[in-house]
Amino acid sequence: MTELHHLTLAQLNEGLRARRFSSVELARHFLGRIERLNPALNALITVTGEQALAQAQRADELLAAGEATSVLAGLPLIHKDIFCTDGVLTTCGSRMLSNFVAPYDATIVERLSQAGVVMLGKANMDEFAMGSSNETSWYGPVKNPWDLKKVPGGSSGGSAAAVAARLAPVATATDTGGSIRQPAALTGLTGFKPTYGRVSRYGMIAFASSLDQAGTLTYTAKDAAMVLRDMAGFDPRDSTSVDTPVPDYLAELDQPLTGLKIGLVKEFFEGGLEESTANLIREALRVYERMGAKLIEVSLPNLPLSVPTYYVVAPAECSSNLSRFDGVRFGYRCENPKNLEDMYKRSRGEGFGAEVKRRIMTGTYVLSAGYYDAYYLRAQKVRRLITDDFARAFQQVDVLMGPTSPTPAFDIGAKVDDPITMYLNDIYTIGANLAGLPAMSVPCGKVTMGDTSLPVGLQIIGPHFAEAKLLNVAHGYQNETLWHRDIPKGYE
Ligand code: GLN
Repeated sequence: MTELHHLTLAQLNEGLRARRFSSVELARHFLGRIERLNPALNALITVTGEQALAQAQRADELLAAGEATSVLAGLPLIHKDIFCTDGVLTTCGSRMLSNFVAPYDATIVERLSQAGVVMLGKANMDEFAMGSSNETSWYGPVKNPWDLKKVPGGSSGGSAAAVAARLAPVATATDTGGSIRQPAALTGLTGFKPTYGRVSRYGMIAFASSLDQAGTLTYTAKDAAMVLRDMAGFDPRDSTSVDTPVPDYLAELDQPLTGLKIGLVKEFFEGGLEESTANLIREALRVYERMGAKLIEVSLPNLPLSVPTYYVVAPAECSSNLSRFDGVRFGYRCENPKNLEDMYKRSRGEGFGAEVKRRIMTGTYVLSAGYYDAYYLRAQKVRRLITDDFARAFQQVDVLMGPTSPTPAFDIGAKVDDPITMYLNDIYTIGANLAGLPAMSVPCGKVTMGDTSLPVGLQIIGPHFAEAKLLNVAHGYQNETLWHRDIPKGYE
């Protein structure tokens, strides 16, 4: 029997419009699953049941009156806990904000709620979005529904685990160095990161402002297109938001892929990539060839420098962004401070976890007088070279493809004591952030390990503002394959 949590957003929208079920029924169904299944996953920090039912009730009234204009009206969603939600706890996965009730909505929260979306709760995440495994959260690690001993990826691990376990048909997420695509790959979802500036960052708690971008975790590219239409667009409250019209992403989905030029990034297939993952990527490329696409090898010679570049730029920006958390204006304050300096030191010392402190220290160091030129300025120059490499590749090809992550989901605890190994998880995703490009991950197979099988993601990267193209390319693949329909055992 098809149950409500087996349906994509597009199917749920049809069902609502055809009155097969109501928004309140939908909200109840998913809230029930959250109550039953979330304790083992730890995917949500806050559940907003009452508010969800009230929003659903309103959506039902609009639908009944024929006044619900957005295809998202009445559909349930989970927001990553990095987005400010008016009157609702907004922790960013940190003890520092464990008492912070946001006084306003982030732009995307506001836009989606105006579209009639029903917020079920807030998703767990790596502390301040720093991590690749969702183990740095003050609220404890998130488990991967494909195997509870494995990580779901990070930093949007709560969003990914929730959608993969069918606790909601969509979750918002953010991607600074891969945090939408990598967890999408590790949990078998479609993860979409738009062009930098396409979606407003207002009310999204800043990690590295020149890299952060909001996007979605869904089952299909079509669902991502549905949500992006309402999320994207110019926002005068974000000075880096780009003022170009938002195309109708749904309209382009079915364009044929004959003649599509796919660039295979040479550097993606050299060393570090597990053979079983590489085979599934090659298999996916053959599907594209059958649809009439052409494969062309391209080289991005500076791409191997992307991880070290990122781990200078991102900590530099985070050290500045996180200086606002000082125990004075909001967030955590230590008990009985002796004086002002003690209050600053202990509030930050107790409020931030180890990974966040490591980044703040690295960032402060690379920005300090005497080291600025050697590290920060140099990293910015390399960033330009990487961006130019991508631009050159896009003169030859329409999109780039390769793996999203070098390995499938790994064991919880396996990499926590070795930050460098952890940072290398992002080796394929970080380039797109440094260059501000749109990129996504779609499920393209599973590798079997003992008695579990774990999902693998195919990464697709496009030129700036090629969102419609990416979604079209991914949708074509999903018409030919069924990987995006797989549900982890126990969550059917
Ligand atoms: N894993 C990367 C980091 O730890 C990327 C995180 C992200 O995209 N938010 O910084």
